[in-house]
Amino acid sequence: MNKTIFAVSLLFAFGSTFLLTFMFRKKLSEMNMVGEYSKDMIFSYSLITAGALYSTWYGFAEGYSFRAWMLFLFFSLITGLGISLGLHRHDTHRSYRTGSIFLFILSVWAWMGGMKKETWVANHTLHHEKEDKPDDPHSPYLFNRYGEWWGFLWSHLVWMLVPRPHLEALKKTDISRIPFIRTERYLFLPCLILGFAIPTALLGQEGLWISFLRMFYVLHITFSINSSGHMFGTTVSTKSLSRNGSWIGALFTMIGERYHANHHADQRSAFLGWRWFDVDAGKWLLVILERCGVVYNLNRPRRIYV
Ligand SMILES: [Zn+2]
Ligand SMILES: [Zn+2]
Repeated sequence: MNKTIFAVSLLFAFGSTFLLTFMFRKKLSEMNMVGEYSKDMIFSYSLITAGALYSTWYGFAEGYSFRAWMLFLFFSLITGLGISLGLHRHDTHRSYRTGSIFLFILSVWAWMGGMKKETWVANHTLHHEKEDKPDDPHSPYLFNRYGEWWGFLWSHLVWMLVPRPHLEALKKTDISRIPFIRTERYLFLPCLILGFAIPTALLGQEGLWISFLRMFYVLHITFSINSSGHMFGTTVSTKSLSRNGSWIGALFTMIGERYHANHHADQRSAFLGWRWFDVDAGKWLLVILERCGVVYNLNRPRRIYV
């Protein structure tokens, strides 16, 4: 391990994250809003960023094997599906029904991706309720008067690092209804560690560093739904500012979440890509599982836009 590169990565990651949080907290107070530093989020995000920076250097210096990239893809896909099919399409929107075994598998995958149900579902429900209004936890339009990039950074990442405490009182989610919510307290951290431990056990150091890269990639793909998904692309309804991205964006997200305008227009639909050829691996998996009898009451989209 190159200690100098690792130290530089740590310094850059923690430094840039602190700078961002400081700037946004100041801007919020200029707008007469309170933002509180979330120490846990600042620390964990900085650590993952530092790991991802070092892993990028490792990739150039040592090179990653084909097996490492396959593990990168596999873990990206399962953690992405855990978030999209588990936390999003099932736990928040109940767009399909299934048994405990599949729900538990999805929960483990989401925990491996570093997502906690308790905060995820409550924040996302409030996002739909207050969509792009001042009390939306992560609308890019909160910073309208300061320009697009302030809004982009806020909705992408900073809203988690400097959350606005008054929003807690607005969250009406019944936490007890979320499947495996009590288990989350005990299994979140072990699952998160497992996402790093399995590739490390299989490939050694290479497996560890590519896991940091995978975590960083899936986090930013997930974050981009809140930022790009409300800023760039086409709208499908005049009532919503949410956007459908390009097919290239859809290919990167793989699981279908890039069709965010579709989702805001029809939240009960389990399909995010409505047309048969729209890239939505989550939809395809649900259809296969419905045929196998694992998933039922699968909500189809109300209408198809071409
Ligand atoms: Zn949603
Ligand atoms: Zn949205």
